[in-house]
Amino acid sequence: MTYRASSPPSEVVRQFVLKVHGLCNLACDHCYVYEHADQTWRDRPAFMTPATVRRAAERIADHAARHRLDTVGIVLHGGEPLLLGPDRLEAALTAIASVVGAVTRIDWRMQTNGILLTDRLAEILLAFGVKVGVSLDGGREANDRHRRYQHGGGSFDATVRGISLLRQERYRPVYAGILCTVDVANDPDAVYTALLEQQPPRLDFLLPHATWETPPPRPAGAATPYADWLNRIRTRWLADGRPVPIRLFDSLEATAAGGDSETESVGGDRGDLAVIETDGSWEQPDSMKTTFDGAAATGLSVFTASADDLLRLPVMRQRTALSATCRACPVVTRCGGGLYAHRYRHGNGFDNPSVYCADLKELIVTMDSLPLWVVGRLSGGDAVTALSVAQESFVRALLVTVADSCDDGPAADAWDLLEDLDTRFPDAVRQVVAHPFLRVWAIRRLRENASAGRLADLAAAVLVTAGDPAEVVVTPRDGRVHLPALGTVTLPGAPDRAVISGAGTVRWDGGTARLEDGDPRWRPAPVVDLGDLVVRLEDADPYRDCHDWPAAPPLSAEDVRSWTRALTGAWQVIKRDAPGQVEGLVRGLRAIVPLVPAADATLRSATSRHAFGAVGIAATDDPEALAVLLVHEFQHSKLAAVLDEHDLLDPRIEATVRVAWRSDPRPPEGVLQGIYAHLAVADMWRHRPGAAAAEIYASYRNRTTAAIDALRGTGALAPLGQSFVDGIAAEIASWR
Ligand code: SF4
Repeated sequence: MTYRASSPPSEVVRQFVLKVHGLCNLACDHCYVYEHADQTWRDRPAFMTPATVRRAAERIADHAARHRLDTVGIVLHGGEPLLLGPDRLEAALTAIASVVGAVTRIDWRMQTNGILLTDRLAEILLAFGVKVGVSLDGGREANDRHRRYQHGGGSFDATVRGISLLRQERYRPVYAGILCTVDVANDPDAVYTALLEQQPPRLDFLLPHATWETPPPRPAGAATPYADWLNRIRTRWLADGRPVPIRLFDSLEATAAGGDSETESVGGDRGDLAVIETDGSWEQPDSMKTTFDGAAATGLSVFTASADDLLRLPVMRQRTALSATCRACPVVTRCGGGLYAHRYRHGNGFDNPSVYCADLKELIVTMDSLPLWVVGRLSGGDAVTALSVAQESFVRALLVTVADSCDDGPAADAWDLLEDLDTRFPDAVRQVVAHPFLRVWAIRRLRENASAGRLADLAAAVLVTAGDPAEVVVTPRDGRVHLPALGTVTLPGAPDRAVISGAGTVRWDGGTARLEDGDPRWRPAPVVDLGDLVVRLEDADPYRDCHDWPAAPPLSAEDVRSWTRALTGAWQVIKRDAPGQVEGLVRGLRAIVPLVPAADATLRSATSRHAFGAVGIAATDDPEALAVLLVHEFQHSKLAAVLDEHDLLDPRIEATVRVAWRSDPRPPEGVLQGIYAHLAVADMWRHRPGAAAAEIYASYRNRTTAAIDALRGTGALAPLGQSFVDGIAAEIASWR
């Protein structure tokens, strides 16, 4: 995973937004030009005079010539640009085309509410090749929720009439598409359907402009309503075979492939867009108007300054900088910190992640994982990496919530240190945050008020991993400090505080120790290194979670050798019987928690719902059995991660199902987990030779198929869950 501190500021302006008319014929209550913090429109001329148009055109032409730009984008914007009327519009286009068109190609655009479109205007736009984007928020109900006239009446009918003109064969070449501002109060399915009815060549969805001071509306209890809303549309869109390009989704997909987002909304502000206001002022992008009064201002005007002068301003150059949180974010190359304006907060300005951070992360993570799991196959390495990225986001979000609950004292100090380390040593932070049991602790902290001291343990683990000589105060418990993912140090005399340095030392009242081999007080977590697979035997973390079974006490050296022998054999078996699982295990299996063996020596294993990448297994020296347990439990771990992200089940359906592998009736999630685990186990037995293996394979296959039928019969599967189970059923059918 790469991190981008920030992209360099742009040396050229490639897109010029001309506010040719400053007023609007609508009074939409979500409009950032009139209804948000900035009110500078009140003191500006209603429209751009011919003299201003000419001077703006000269500045654009100069810039294009100086930088040898083969194309510049010119966007006619407002207010409502069509309020110019046909004569003034034609004159403005003619003036700009004669000046700018003499030195470069113009990519003409207009953003309008479409209400004033007439045949005459459409002819002018067609003659100049101005591509027209229309703002429409869905069907009548959705659109008229916000897009209304001053008198309160809705604008849907008038806008649709304007679009109908653009849909005519003659004007279709200038119909660019529809821009929809998201309102999560609207039904996403209905909005999607209504927008497609307008046959747009392209759709785009805009998150309503908001900041940390004026956050977007969020329904109570919804953590990521905007991601959920957009994901709903994306699911429909994929199921429909992508009937029309959707810019936001296409942009995020482009960034996944290392490409440019082609939008300032995601993937980072490239800083190559400038606005020219009706009075000729150079301004920053319009979205800044949502932050504070005068935020978009630069103090420059086309009458006094060139586009190069504009680009030299600190306010323009700093637009590509990212906050420390974003720089350390696993999806920063995709999200880019979101729209610059959405990062604003009083006090520290734009040095923040987007106010839509959680939604953007969720949207990206879901986009990455959706195609992988819809077909029911999660064994591939890329799928497991996508799940790991999502889990890191969950853990980080939980840690922030925990930190918010710690007002001051050592835990708050540890959090400050962690934030600093996240900037300086993002890889070390990621390595430690991936420890499976941090999430278990964070949940216990929030639900049961478990000790907040783990934050300091976490900071200490990062310091030691990074080798940074800073220090952190930790609180030993029962004379021990456990550093997540690293090991345990035992402090004689049970002190109530100790200081750990990233240089690898710990000191307490009465002694010091080194956190390295050879110091008897330090016990690193045992690690089994099989070359491609490296896994910890997690036998000391106080928060190691084993579902229903007790965790075994710390292993002896002989126990570790025995585990190493067994895992070496099991890994060879997995490569032989489940080759498709190998890459996923390599990327995702981080820890095995040794369990207390069953009294009757039957095999015992478990997986914690909240510890992605960890499985619990009681020791066995049978590599064939251990291989099956590893694959089986890792299936549970992956599906738990999928269930964190996606609604596969309808929570309103309270059903229980009898399955062949348990004596008690199981709830739908338990059945789904069993199906998914048995899918992989059946596949392993399928690869094993001999009649006995064939019989066991048939048994697993049949019980899995029967459970699929039973689960389908409950009606508890959500649409995505049905796709998931269909994928499993298809996979089993392909074996026959
Ligand atoms: S998801 Fe959040 S933290 Fe990550 S880059 Fe986007 S805004 Fe920044």
